[in-house]
This record gives sequence, C-alpha cells and structure tokens, in this order.
Amino acid sequence: PTQPAGAGKRILLAKPRGYCAGVDRAVQTVEHALAHYGAPVYVRKQIVHNLHVVRALEERGAVFVEENAEVPEGATVVFSAHGVAPEVHEQAAARGLRTIDATCPLVTKVHHEARRFAKDDYDILLIGHDGHEEVIGTSGEAPEHITLVDGPESVAAVEVRDPDKVVWLSQTTLSVDETMETVDALRQRFPKLQAPPSDDICYATQNRQAAVKKIAPEADLFLIVGSGNSSNSVRMVEVASAAGARAAHLVENAAAIDPAWLDGVATIGLSSGASVPEILVSEVVGWLGEHGYDGITEVSHTEERLTFALPQELRRELRARA
Ligand code: SF4
Repeated sequence: PTQPAGAGKRILLAKPRGYCAGVDRAVQTVEHALAHYGAPVYVRKQIVHNLHVVRALEERGAVFVEENAEVPEGATVVFSAHGVAPEVHEQAAARGLRTIDATCPLVTKVHHEARRFAKDDYDILLIGHDGHEEVIGTSGEAPEHITLVDGPESVAAVEVRDPDKVVWLSQTTLSVDETMETVDALRQRFPKLQAPPSDDICYATQNRQAAVKKIAPEADLFLIVGSGNSSNSVRMVEVASAAGARAAHLVENAAAIDPAWLDGVATIGLSSGASVPEILVSEVVGWLGEHGYDGITEVSHTEERLTFALPQELRRELRARA
C-alpha cells in the first residue's frame, strides 16, 4: 500500500528552548519603561540579540542606539542584557541620562567575579568571543587584569605575569564542550589555573545545549531559530552538528528555511536560542507542517522555572507611581 503523504516525517521539539529569564526581564524592562515614561525610550545596543524583538519594540517607540552620545541629554536609556563596562555608566552620568540597567543578573555575577579577582591581583583569562558585547562589558571591569581567550586555538599565545595566580572566567553563552577544551588546554600551560567560583556559562545556555544533544543523533536536519549575532543560538547549531545531526542551520524565521534542505529528511530537530520569542518557533512548525512534517514530539531535558525581578531602579519608579 502507498504511504500517506508525510508518513514518517516528524519534528522533535527541544525543551527548554527560547526565552531565558534574563531575556524575558530585559524585554519587559523596555516595555515597562515605554509604558511608564512614554516614547521614546532609548536603548543602548540591541536589548537582546533578536531582530524580531528589536523591530517589535521599535514599533512601540523604543529607539536603539549604539552609544550614549546618541541619546539626548536628560533622556532615559536602557542598557542591554549583555552588560556594560563601568565607563558606560560614567558617560551616561556625565550626560545627565536616566539609566535603567537591564544587564542579566547572571552576567552581573561574572562582572563581580572579575572585579574580585582583579582586586586580589590575579591574571584573569576570560574565555569568550572577541568583539561580543558581553565580553567588552566584562573586560571593562578590569582591563589591566583580563586577557581574552577566544577558543582552544588562542591558548598558545596567552601570556601571564605569574602562572601561580591565574583564574579563568567565561562569557555566559559559550559551548560547554568547547569551553572545557579551552580550559584543558589552558591547564596544560598553567597547572595552577583556578576555576570560577560557580559556572559562568549560564543555566539557560547549558539546558538548551543539553536538549539539542539529546535529539541530534536522530536528526537528519536540525533547525535552530535565532539571529546571526546571537552567540547562544549560533553555539546551538554547532552543538547539534557535533552531537550527530546530519545537517544543522540557523534560521531567523520560517521564511529563511530553504526547501532544498528537506530532501530525504525524515526527522527534523527544532529548537530556538535564548532571545527568541515562541511565535517564531510556532511559525516554523506551521511551515514544516505544510511540508508534511506533522508529527511533533517534545523532547525534554528539564523544566525551567527561574525568573528575575525587574531592575531595581525601574521597580522603584513603578512603585512611586502606584
Ligand atoms: Fe542571562 Fe543566560 Fe539569558 Fe544571557 S542567556 S540573558 S546570561 S540567562
């Protein structure tokens, strides 16, 4: 008998996926600021690395700028989830800006660690991607003490003052496995290398990668919904490939899927980065459904329940008005 169209074509949907607590808080911060102060509210850098989120907030009156200098004196500016160097706060104060800091508390934690180890005069080896906003912000806490290590291949060139007093810290959104490779290579060179007091790669990054790994060996194709400048999304594509997916692609949205990718594909793994609203995943599921992939199974690594309170400077304002 002939098989019905779509038979055997299925989607394995990773859980958790999409918004993490830090992104949710950052987006809500801009929404509350718009409701409270009225448009325009300035936002320094993309509040989170997702084009859809940025466009939606722009439509509601958020104005995204690259630097404080573009914000009119006395206006309100929100700092993005990725964190800023202390000098960015100083510039804002000098311009008389009202600031709301939407830095994720898990990034702030890494800033605290950097300050503490710098105060104790350690050489800090910050594992992260050169040029990423989070790395620029964290490095700004102690530029004299921090050396960036961008992956295992940059380990050979690292120089320290005292190999007995070295600690590694990291960006929050790296590949867990690649970071461990970098740490192993660093430890070969500096056997006394200390580790961060707690994981710098955040819970959301770790959980999303673990769920991808669970599905990847079965996936003929893995689609990760996310923007190209989203570090954690790009890492998920790499993790999917490394864990056995036959092909893996990052897609901004359903329109970005190339139908040719579906040739000979029975099982599609699907997930989304920490800055991606669920609506974009639903649209991909809809698009795949139209192409015969109508069996969906959710594959769960864990349940996430963490939430963060809004920035305290905003909470204070909202309370004062209530
Ligand atoms: Fe915070 Fe992690 Fe989300 Fe980044 S990915 S905003 S560090 S919870």
